[in-house]
Amino acid sequence: MSMVHVEGLRCRECGREYDAAPIYTCEWCFGPLEVAYDYDAIAKATSRDKIAAGPLSLWRYSDLLPVHGDPAVDLGTGFTPLVRADRLAAELGLGEVWVKNDTRNPTNSFKDRVVSIALSKALEFGFKVAACASTGNLANSVAAHAAHAGLRSYVFVPSNLEAGKIVTTAVYGGNLVAIKGNYDDVNRLCAELAGVYEWAFVNVNMRPYYAEGSKTLAFETAEQLGWQAPDHVVVPQASGSLLTKVHKGFEELHKVGLLDEEPAVRVSGAQALGCSPIAQAFLENSDTIKPVKPDTIAKSLAIGNPADGYFALDVVRTTGGGMSAVSDGEIVDGMELLARTEGIFAETAGGVTIATLKNLAKEGVIRPDERVVVYITGHGLKTLEAVAGTSGPTATIAPTLDAFHEAFDIEEQE
Ligand SMILES: [Zn+2]
Repeated sequence: MSMVHVEGLRCRECGREYDAAPIYTCEWCFGPLEVAYDYDAIAKATSRDKIAAGPLSLWRYSDLLPVHGDPAVDLGTGFTPLVRADRLAAELGLGEVWVKNDTRNPTNSFKDRVVSIALSKALEFGFKVAACASTGNLANSVAAHAAHAGLRSYVFVPSNLEAGKIVTTAVYGGNLVAIKGNYDDVNRLCAELAGVYEWAFVNVNMRPYYAEGSKTLAFETAEQLGWQAPDHVVVPQASGSLLTKVHKGFEELHKVGLLDEEPAVRVSGAQALGCSPIAQAFLENSDTIKPVKPDTIAKSLAIGNPADGYFALDVVRTTGGGMSAVSDGEIVDGMELLARTEGIFAETAGGVTIATLKNLAKEGVIRPDERVVVYITGHGLKTLEAVAGTSGPTATIAPTLDAFHEAFDIEEQE
């Protein structure tokens, strides 16, 4: 495994630099800190051949990640399928569409990417306890990775989460704390707890490292397209971090010589209407992101005060992308459309992404001549209740031929 090429942490607002430590805000301006790399050293160390010879997981890109030596916490996350979606494209009047199917991770969501990095880094720093504030998918992933790494865990979630996300967190045996409040309440409590306990809060004091895991979605996409960047990507938004890191991932590949041409990826953002502070700012042509009280079936995206909202807004504007805020009905339709055309079952967040793809295609923001990649970040089994009302048996009949013939008038051999 490779050497790490991290120079330290750098403030995203004022540029001040810090040593690589479990810290996340600038002492001067309170801006968020981000990992700073020595890109010349990475360019010398990495190559397409070296990556191709690496493990079939996100650790094949370790030269571009902030973890020393062998990964400490590895459940085999990443290198998920990039599926050509011709039937979906045809329904939407688009040309070349691909689905990055991140339901195929160890705990069935993209959060395994960020948690693999955050907890590997947490072990480097010597932490004994992993913790997080979560809307569900992160809870699953932290509990599982902590179990695998032998870390104790405290996972904090809103108490109204889907049953499919409570059970799939609790089963790993850590402490699962249900908070009577929304995600923003949970997050505020965790920021306070982080000041009291020396724990690795993956999305608080470990956030600069944690967020880097999302870049691997761009790395894999480019490699799976034969080391080419797509023309347009559609990314779901909760805090907005994923969208900014996917964009950064393509830029970094060019910076270190893994992409020949400078990428010009248009980045579009998806949000649910019931929690759409970033999309509203975009649609109103405003720079102000107004916090909201979430009310949507897309609970994994229900962050009313998005930490990276401003940065996501900036990426979408500067790359010429678009945004959409989609209703609960459109979310369910989006889940069913993806399942019906491509055989991929996404959670509600995936329904938000597909509905946004559909709307932006209709508006002409996403064009038929573009190569488009949509990011499906979580599995439909996590949010079964969203489609339980519309997905059931086609017919319920007695076990006889007559009953079958009565229910199905089949003209010819199908
Ligand atoms: Zn600063």
